Amino acid sequence: MYAFMQNPDKCSPRQWRHLDFISQFSTDVRHINGTRNAVADALSRIEVNQISNSFLDFEALSKAQLEDNELQSFQNDEKSSLVFKRVPSPVSATELICDTSTGSPRPFVPHNFRRTIFEHFHNLAHPGVAASFQLIASRYVWPNMRKTVKDWVQNCIACQRSKVHRHTKTPLGTFALPDARFLHIHVDLIGPLPSSEGKSFC
Ligand SMILES: [Zn+2]
Repeated sequence: MYAFMQNPDKCSPRQWRHLDFISQFSTDVRHINGTRNAVADALSRIEVNQISNSFLDFEALSKAQLEDNELQSFQNDEKSSLVFKRVPSPVSATELICDTSTGSPRPFVPHNFRRTIFEHFHNLAHPGVAASFQLIASRYVWPNMRKTVKDWVQNCIACQRSKVHRHTKTPLGTFALPDARFLHIHVDLIGPLPSSEGKSFC
Protein backbone atom coordinates (compact mmCIF):
# COMPACT_ATOMS: atom_id res chain seq x y z
CA MET A 1 0.00 0.00 0.00
CA TYR A 2 2.74 2.41 0.92
CA ALA A 3 5.05 1.51 -1.94
CA PHE A 4 3.69 4.23 -4.23
CA MET A 5 3.61 6.85 -1.51
CA GLN A 6 7.18 6.48 -0.29
CA ASN A 7 10.08 8.67 -1.28
CA PRO A 8 11.31 7.17 -4.57
CA ASP A 9 14.93 7.87 -3.62
CA LYS A 10 14.63 5.23 -0.94
CA CYS A 11 13.79 2.50 -3.46
CA SER A 12 16.41 0.01 -4.51
CA PRO A 13 16.70 -0.47 -8.30
CA ARG A 14 14.87 -3.76 -7.96
CA GLN A 15 11.98 -2.17 -6.06
CA TRP A 16 11.92 0.50 -8.73
CA ARG A 17 11.53 -2.07 -11.48
CA HIS A 18 8.77 -3.85 -9.56
CA LEU A 19 6.86 -0.63 -8.92
CA ASP A 20 7.37 0.46 -12.52
CA PHE A 21 5.82 -2.79 -13.71
CA ILE A 22 2.92 -2.79 -11.24
CA SER A 23 2.11 0.86 -11.99
CA GLN A 24 1.30 -0.08 -15.59
CA PHE A 25 -1.83 -1.71 -14.17
CA SER A 26 -2.69 0.30 -11.08
CA THR A 27 -1.28 2.54 -8.42
CA ASP A 28 -4.43 2.28 -6.31
CA VAL A 29 -3.55 -0.58 -3.97
CA ARG A 30 -5.80 -1.12 -0.96
CA HIS A 31 -5.85 -3.50 1.94
CA ILE A 32 -8.74 -5.98 2.08
CA ASN A 33 -9.29 -7.83 5.31
CA GLY A 34 -8.63 -11.57 4.96
CA THR A 35 -12.15 -12.53 6.03
CA ARG A 36 -13.63 -10.29 3.31
CA ASN A 37 -11.14 -11.35 0.65
CA ALA A 38 -12.78 -14.55 -0.53
CA VAL A 39 -11.39 -14.45 -4.06
CA ALA A 40 -7.73 -14.49 -3.06
CA ASP A 41 -7.49 -18.26 -2.99
CA ALA A 42 -10.50 -19.13 -5.14
CA LEU A 43 -8.47 -21.12 -7.62
CA SER A 44 -6.97 -23.38 -4.99
CA ARG A 45 -10.23 -24.07 -3.21
CA ILE A 46 -11.84 -27.40 -3.87
CA GLU A 47 -15.58 -27.21 -4.22
CA VAL A 48 -17.18 -30.44 -3.12
CA ASN A 49 -19.66 -30.47 -5.98
CA GLN A 50 -16.82 -30.18 -8.50
CA ILE A 51 -15.66 -33.64 -7.51
CA SER A 52 -17.38 -36.06 -9.82
CA ASN A 53 -17.99 -39.73 -9.37
CA SER A 54 -17.20 -40.57 -12.98
CA PHE A 55 -13.59 -41.56 -12.29
CA LEU A 56 -14.67 -44.80 -10.68
CA ASP A 57 -16.23 -47.91 -12.20
CA PHE A 58 -18.96 -48.48 -9.62
CA GLU A 59 -20.18 -51.67 -11.23
CA ALA A 60 -16.73 -53.22 -10.89
CA LEU A 61 -16.50 -51.86 -7.35
CA SER A 62 -19.82 -53.43 -6.45
CA LYS A 63 -18.70 -56.77 -7.87
CA ALA A 64 -15.38 -56.59 -6.00
CA GLN A 65 -17.20 -55.84 -2.75
CA LEU A 66 -19.05 -59.16 -2.95
CA GLU A 67 -15.79 -61.10 -3.25
CA ASP A 68 -13.94 -59.10 -0.60
CA ASN A 69 -12.89 -61.13 2.46
CA GLU A 70 -11.94 -58.02 4.41
CA LEU A 71 -15.42 -56.59 4.04
CA GLN A 72 -17.04 -59.85 5.12
CA SER A 73 -14.98 -60.01 8.31
CA PHE A 74 -15.83 -56.36 8.93
CA GLN A 75 -19.54 -56.99 8.53
CA ASN A 76 -19.36 -59.88 10.97
CA ASP A 77 -17.34 -57.92 13.54
CA GLU A 78 -19.71 -56.93 16.31
CA LYS A 79 -17.21 -54.56 17.94
CA SER A 80 -16.94 -52.42 14.79
CA SER A 81 -18.72 -49.06 14.91
CA LEU A 82 -19.42 -49.20 11.19
CA VAL A 83 -22.97 -49.88 10.04
CA PHE A 84 -23.09 -51.54 6.63
CA LYS A 85 -26.11 -51.30 4.38
CA ARG A 86 -26.80 -51.77 0.71
CA VAL A 87 -27.25 -48.40 -0.98
CA PRO A 88 -28.07 -47.71 -4.64
CA SER A 89 -24.95 -46.66 -6.58
CA PRO A 90 -24.75 -42.96 -7.56
CA VAL A 91 -24.19 -43.65 -11.25
CA SER A 92 -25.25 -47.15 -12.18
CA ALA A 93 -28.11 -49.51 -11.42
CA THR A 94 -26.06 -51.57 -8.99
CA GLU A 95 -26.05 -51.44 -5.22
CA LEU A 96 -23.01 -50.67 -3.10
CA ILE A 97 -22.25 -51.83 0.42
CA CYS A 98 -21.79 -48.62 2.37
CA ASP A 99 -21.04 -47.61 5.93
CA THR A 100 -23.94 -45.46 7.10
CA SER A 101 -22.68 -44.64 10.59
CA THR A 102 -21.63 -41.10 9.67
CA GLY A 103 -24.91 -39.94 8.14
CA SER A 104 -23.82 -39.96 4.52
CA PRO A 105 -23.23 -43.42 3.04
CA ARG A 106 -19.56 -44.26 2.37
CA PRO A 107 -18.88 -47.19 0.02
CA PHE A 108 -16.47 -49.81 1.34
CA VAL A 109 -13.48 -49.84 -1.01
CA PRO A 110 -11.79 -53.15 -1.86
CA HIS A 111 -7.99 -53.17 -2.21
CA ASN A 112 -7.68 -52.69 -5.96
CA PHE A 113 -9.68 -49.46 -6.00
CA ARG A 114 -7.99 -47.61 -3.15
CA ARG A 115 -5.08 -46.18 -5.09
CA THR A 116 -7.37 -44.83 -7.84
CA ILE A 117 -9.52 -43.07 -5.26
CA PHE A 118 -6.51 -41.69 -3.42
CA GLU A 119 -4.99 -40.31 -6.60
CA HIS A 120 -8.25 -38.78 -7.74
CA PHE A 121 -8.64 -36.74 -4.58
CA HIS A 122 -5.01 -36.10 -3.68
CA ASN A 123 -4.03 -34.98 -7.18
CA LEU A 124 -6.66 -32.23 -7.19
CA ALA A 125 -4.38 -29.90 -5.24
CA HIS A 126 -1.89 -32.18 -3.48
CA PRO A 127 -3.14 -31.42 0.03
CA GLY A 128 -1.22 -32.79 3.04
CA VAL A 129 -1.96 -35.94 5.02
CA ALA A 130 -4.78 -34.55 7.17
CA ALA A 131 -6.64 -32.81 4.33
CA SER A 132 -6.22 -35.74 1.94
CA PHE A 133 -7.56 -38.11 4.58
CA GLN A 134 -10.48 -35.79 5.29
CA LEU A 135 -11.38 -35.60 1.58
CA ILE A 136 -11.38 -39.37 1.16
CA ALA A 137 -12.72 -40.49 4.55
CA SER A 138 -15.82 -38.34 4.18
CA ARG A 139 -16.74 -40.29 1.03
CA TYR A 140 -15.23 -43.77 1.29
CA VAL A 141 -14.20 -46.27 3.91
CA TRP A 142 -11.52 -48.95 4.09
CA PRO A 143 -9.53 -50.43 6.98
CA ASN A 144 -6.46 -48.47 8.13
CA MET A 145 -7.26 -45.67 5.71
CA ARG A 146 -5.37 -43.09 7.77
CA LYS A 147 -2.14 -45.04 7.48
CA THR A 148 -2.58 -45.81 3.77
CA VAL A 149 -3.24 -42.16 2.99
CA LYS A 150 -0.33 -41.03 5.14
CA ASP A 151 2.09 -43.38 3.37
CA TRP A 152 0.90 -42.38 -0.09
CA VAL A 153 0.99 -38.65 0.61
CA GLN A 154 4.50 -38.92 2.05
CA ASN A 155 5.63 -40.83 -1.02
CA CYS A 156 3.96 -38.56 -3.57
CA ILE A 157 6.70 -37.41 -5.94
CA ALA A 158 4.88 -34.22 -6.96
CA CYS A 159 4.55 -33.21 -3.29
CA GLN A 160 8.21 -33.89 -2.63
CA ARG A 161 9.25 -31.82 -5.63
CA SER A 162 7.24 -28.74 -4.81
CA LYS A 163 6.80 -28.56 -1.06
CA VAL A 164 9.49 -27.20 1.22
CA HIS A 165 9.39 -29.30 4.37
CA ARG A 166 12.34 -27.67 6.08
CA HIS A 167 14.80 -24.96 5.21
CA THR A 168 18.37 -26.10 5.46
CA LYS A 169 21.25 -23.74 5.87
CA THR A 170 24.45 -24.95 4.30
CA PRO A 171 27.54 -24.44 6.48
CA LEU A 172 30.44 -22.50 5.06
CA GLY A 173 32.53 -24.75 2.86
CA THR A 174 36.26 -25.24 2.83
CA PHE A 175 38.25 -25.71 -0.34
CA ALA A 176 41.24 -27.92 -0.87
CA LEU A 177 44.21 -25.76 -1.79
CA PRO A 178 44.59 -25.92 -5.59
CA ASP A 179 48.05 -26.84 -6.86
CA ALA A 180 47.92 -24.85 -10.09
CA ARG A 181 46.70 -21.42 -11.12
CA PHE A 182 43.07 -20.99 -12.22
CA LEU A 183 42.17 -24.52 -11.22
CA HIS A 184 39.35 -22.94 -9.26
CA ILE A 185 37.54 -19.72 -10.06
CA HIS A 186 35.30 -18.21 -7.41
CA VAL A 187 32.75 -15.52 -8.10
CA ASP A 188 31.06 -13.38 -5.47
CA LEU A 189 28.27 -10.92 -6.08
CA ILE A 190 27.91 -8.01 -3.68
CA GLY A 191 25.39 -5.23 -3.55
CA PRO A 192 23.27 -3.28 -3.89
CA LEU A 193 25.86 -0.50 -3.49
CA PRO A 194 25.23 3.21 -4.03
CA SER A 195 24.67 3.60 -7.74
CA SER A 196 27.74 4.48 -9.84
CA GLU A 197 27.28 5.18 -13.54
CA GLY A 198 23.98 3.33 -13.30
CA LYS A 199 25.54 0.19 -11.84
CA SER A 200 25.03 -0.96 -8.27
CA PHE A 201 26.36 -4.51 -8.07
CA CYS A 202 29.94 -5.80 -8.02
ZN1 LIG B 1 1.02 -34.99 -3.87
